[in-house]
Amino acid sequence: MRKFKVIYDREACVGAGACTVVCEKFWKMNDDGKADLIGGAPNNEIIIGEEDLPCNQQAADSCPVDAIRIEEIPE
Ligand code: SF4
Repeated sequence: MRKFKVIYDREACVGAGACTVVCEKFWKMNDDGKADLIGGAPNNEIIIGEEDLPCNQQAADSCPVDAIRIEEIPE
């Protein structure tokens, strides 16, 4: 099965919250006004399967500052 890496540039986040609306399974707002990638500690990266790609792709596409990147992991 294809695997993907979700890479989050938390520094770049401006707290627009779009990611948390379209993909609440993986994204939530923190008290500091920025989004958190759930399970992304300590380096704000997670590995996901194909089933979780659409949700995270929507999050990436909706982010106004392109803080969310998704790369396919070569097999
Ligand atoms: S959509 Fe982008 S800027 Fe908005 S909260 Fe999510 S990561 Fe931050």
